[in-house]
Formats: sequence, structure tokens, C-alpha cells
Amino acid sequence: MKLKNSSALFARAQRLMPGGVNSPVRSFRGVGGQPPFITRGQGSRIWDVDGNEYVDYVCSWGPLILGHAHPDVVAAVQGTAARGTSFGAPTEGEVELASLIQAAFPSLELLRLVNSGTEACMSALRVARAFTKRSKVLKFAGCYHGHADALLVKAGSGGATFSVPDSAGVPPSFAGETLVADYNRLDSVEKLLQAHPKEVAAVIVEPVAGNMGVVPPGPGFLAGLRDLARQHGALLIFDEVITGFRVAYGGAQARYGVLPDLTCLGKIIGGGLPVGAYGGRREVMEMVAPLGPVYQAGTLSGNPIATAAGIATLKALQRPGTYEALEERAAVLERGLLEVARAAERPATVNRVGSMLTLFFHPGLVTTWQEVAASDAKAYAAFFHAMLERGVYLAPSAFEAAFVSTAHTAADIEATLEAARASL
Ligand SMILES: *Cc1c(COP(=O)(O)O)cnc(C)c1O
Repeated sequence: MKLKNSSALFARAQRLMPGGVNSPVRSFRGVGGQPPFITRGQGSRIWDVDGNEYVDYVCSWGPLILGHAHPDVVAAVQGTAARGTSFGAPTEGEVELASLIQAAFPSLELLRLVNSGTEACMSALRVARAFTKRSKVLKFAGCYHGHADALLVKAGSGGATFSVPDSAGVPPSFAGETLVADYNRLDSVEKLLQAHPKEVAAVIVEPVAGNMGVVPPGPGFLAGLRDLARQHGALLIFDEVITGFRVAYGGAQARYGVLPDLTCLGKIIGGGLPVGAYGGRREVMEMVAPLGPVYQAGTLSGNPIATAAGIATLKALQRPGTYEALEERAAVLERGLLEVARAAERPATVNRVGSMLTLFFHPGLVTTWQEVAASDAKAYAAFFHAMLERGVYLAPSAFEAAFVSTAHTAADIEATLEAARASL
């Protein structure tokens, strides 16, 4: 594997940007070595600046459910850009994207477009605090909701990779407003809600955890959260930034049949451009300016190019059979990885919901953050590099999901399993 051009770029990048990257997990600190610099993507494939080709399972960390450079998305972006990139005034595209989202997620009676998942979660929390007139928020260890201060506590993902569960620079008084429960452990939620009566504004959760690797909700977990939040007067927020339009067209709330008060979206709804959205019950969202007293704004929010890419993506996803095909392809990958691991006598388990999955080097089931943390991250790092050398680009961290797109073919999956056999 040649890395000459990537190495030169990485050296330059490190003189300019912290760790040479604009988002920490890209730096490969979680697996060692240095990242290839990517120059092009098409369908399921990406190419780096040294000409190496990879089957890509990062897919920009989730947004690219149609694969790279999908012709509909490219056409939408090009056509829109030629008519002007941003106006700071209302456009038809915003109305169309919002109505596509609402049709898929009827619980979003009113919604607001923003520029990232971080912004969506931060804003949803502000609204929940204003609506309930309470200040605390309850989240789960290993769940990531972007990098806003209040949510950067035991936040999985990059934090888990680097063993910095809590960021420096977050005042203890802010972090003190955040209570942390155990994912898939309703008793831990109940205990905290009872210990802080009438103080918790919102329970925020990834309905399928994706930032500690994939951890599905156990039977009754989401419904239990719904009940507990209601009993204690807290709002339930589903952070569907990954799961929205991923685990079903209507997200985890459609797949599991549990409706939150507020929902955060991002990733897929921007088709690979910067976007986010939050919304929910009308009376709650009527708190947002200009209707209500909660201020939240954005110069580029709902900008024409991101909304056009999002609309093109959601329309492509509406084609009959899309989710069945994703499910089937990812299931082949899941079964294949388990077989390959078993043949190599490696203790491993695969967690999968729809087209998001994680291979954990762990002998038993992985249903909690404790079990995630007990998995063998060193073994994952070695596997990651062996796969990269064989042309398969997995997430450079043991605590992330792999994403299958509509562009991944049966042949891609077969090649991936062949590489896994050789690697293990
Ligand atoms: C990616 C992600 C975010 C943050 O989104 P950004 O666009 O990176 O700010 C929030 N929540 C979840 C569940 C995510 O996976």
C-alpha cells in the first residue's frame, strides 16, 4: 500500500490543524498509523491520493446511504449551485425538505432546519429546558449527541476512542446539569429521575446506539423510557441523527413504534452536505423564535444546496425495495463476518440494526456500555489495518458503526468477507 502522497499531506496538515484533522476520529489515533487522504468517491468505492482503492463502510460516518456521488444528488447540487448558493431568505427547497421529513416522521409537527447534528441536539435541549422550566438533562453513557457542552459527558465515539469521556473546557457547573444513566438499563434511569424530582427537562437517547458501536435497544427499553419520561414530566428526545432514514425510512421511531416529544436529525437528510433538523410536538416547538422566547438562528440554515442534496437523497430512498435491499445486504455481511470469526476461532459478536453494524471482539452479547468497553480494541485496531491493506475502509475506531449503502453490491460484500478471512 503506497502512502507517500498521503504522508506528505498529513505532515502539512499537522502544521496547520490540531492533529492534522478537522474532526478527531479521522486522525487514526484510535487505531494507530496515519490516515489516507481521500480524493474521490464513486458508489461504494473511495480512492486516496496515492491511487489506493477501498470499499468504503464509513460513508462519511452515515450520511451517504446512497453511496458516493449518486447521480441524483450530484445533479441536484450542481443545478442548485448554478442558481445561487445562499440567500438568507426563505426558499422553496426548505419547505419541500421539511415536508418530506414530516411525512416520514409524523411526530415532527413543527421542525427547524440547522447545519449539523450538534446544532440540532443543542437546540432541542434548549427548547426542552424552556418548555419544562427545568435545567437538568439525562443522557446515557456511550451515547453521542454532538459536541455541545452539556452533552459532552460520557459521550462515546471520539471520546471513547481517546479515553477522554469528559472534555476539558466544559465548566463543572455545566456538566453538573447532565445526569448519566446506563443504556438498556431502565432501573438506572428511574433511580436518577427519582433522585432529582421535577429537575429533569429531558431524557435524550440514541434509540439505536451508534456511537459506542451499534447497540440495539433491548425489548421494552424505548417504551420504558417513554413511560418514565412522561411520569416524571420530562420530555423524551430521540437523537436520530444516525438512525433517521437509516434503520427505516421513518427512523427508529417507526421501526420500534415509540414516539418521542422531540427528534434530532442530521447526516442522511443532507445527502452528504452539512445539515441538521430538530422538531416535535407543536406546543413544544412553538417555543422557538420568532413564535416563542427560545432564540435559535443560522446564517446558512436550510441553505439551498444542502436542502437540494437532502431532497434528492430522500426521494431516491422512497424507491420501493430500498430498505429491504439494504437489510438483506447488511445481513449477508453480518452472517459472513460471524462465520469468518468463528472459523478463525476469534471471539466476536456482530450487532446490527438494518444497514448499520459493528463487529465487536467480545465473546458474549454486547448490550451495554460496560460490555462495549470490555471488547478488545487492540484486536480491532489490528483487524482495521489488515482490512485497509486489503482495500476495505472501516471506521478507524472500535466504537463506531459500519454503514452499508445502496451502492454496495453483493460482490463488494463478498470481497469484504474474503478480506476479513485473510485478515483474521
Ligand atoms: C453525528 C452525530 C451527531 C452530531 O452530528 P454532527 O453533524 O457531527 O454535528 C449527533 N448525534 C448523533 C447520534 C450522531 O451520530
